[in-house]
Amino acid sequence: MPTFSFELYPPRTEAAEGALYLSLAHLVAAGPEFISVTYGADGSSREPSLAVLAKILDGTDVRPMAHLTCVGSSYAQASQLIREFLDAGITSFLALRGDPPAGAAEGDDFLGDLGSAGELVQLIHRVQSERAPFAFEDVPGFPGAKRLTSGEKVTIAVAAFPNGHPRSRSVDQDLDTLLAKEAAGANLAITQLFFQADDYLGFVDRARSAGVTMRILPGIMPVLSPNRLRRILELSGENIPVELERDLADAGSSAEQAAVGVRHATALGHDLLAGGAPGIHLYTFNKHEPVLAVLRGIGLLGEPQPISPEETSPEETSPERVSA
Ligand code: FAD
Repeated sequence: MPTFSFELYPPRTEAAEGALYLSLAHLVAAGPEFISVTYGADGSSREPSLAVLAKILDGTDVRPMAHLTCVGSSYAQASQLIREFLDAGITSFLALRGDPPAGAAEGDDFLGDLGSAGELVQLIHRVQSERAPFAFEDVPGFPGAKRLTSGEKVTIAVAAFPNGHPRSRSVDQDLDTLLAKEAAGANLAITQLFFQADDYLGFVDRARSAGVTMRILPGIMPVLSPNRLRRILELSGENIPVELERDLADAGSSAEQAAVGVRHATALGHDLLAGGAPGIHLYTFNKHEPVLAVLRGIGLLGEPQPISPEETSPEETSPERVSA
């Protein structure tokens, strides 16, 4: 059975927080494999990101996944950050380099001690093994017996770019980068958004030929308005999806635009699963209705169950991360 998972971003206001937690209840009820929470590359979202992760960890049975970035950090700062998240009980990470700070260009001296996400993957493993070098586990078939393990294993996901990272020199560089991240200890990849199933399916074929073996989950975003589409294209550098752009422009009301966005994302999800994708990762923008409608359309979810009498639609704000 294909998996599904969601991405949230930490809220910036009390009203947005209330709306997020209402949406969270609906997302959790759907039974995702995990819910990831973005992290601002300037470190400003450390506390709010941790608060959302703690809410998922303590209040639900869904696995929280923390995005972490390393851009601009010293080794000591990055290690401290990782330790803090591990201490909070988080054992799944999406290790990212993070975007350059506003105004800085790629190639400027903004990186800090860790030059790439692959180095952050290694550091997470190192901090984890220093923190819990030994652990014991049950021995199957021998009730009460315990054996030594090498410590609790963390899940470390990394980003992948089916149409290339905006600043990479070639497709080969992106594949090399992904392979290096797996060699560093990553065990899951999540893609940047894209609009054609063949972009993902062709990329996965090339990644497999290059030696990448980890699961690669396609990231899908229902695009609910022409403005949102414009912003996403600016940030991600993706090519204009001509049909989606036209259908959004032709839709009269915002409800019709949202329906267009859901319809396109559903068709994409359907084609991806038909092409062999192991699941889908949905960018929610902290709204549950569109992504749950996509999952229902693809056939991964039944009809909605009532959650709370005071259900309202959460307000829409900008995501923490700079890239789409
Ligand atoms: P890397 O894997 O380090 O790669 C970055 C670039 O450097 C690529 O062009 C790569 O080809 C090149 N490169 C890497 N290593 C080498 C090398 N050894 N030699 C030459 N070139 C190399 N950003 C946030 O700030 N917060 C978030 O929460 C966040 N979540 C994201 C979630 C997903 C699913 C995705 C796809 C992106 C997310 N981003 C987030 C954006 C991400 O931080 C940016 O895209 C960033 O510019 C690159 O990060 P990376 O982890 O891919 O970096």
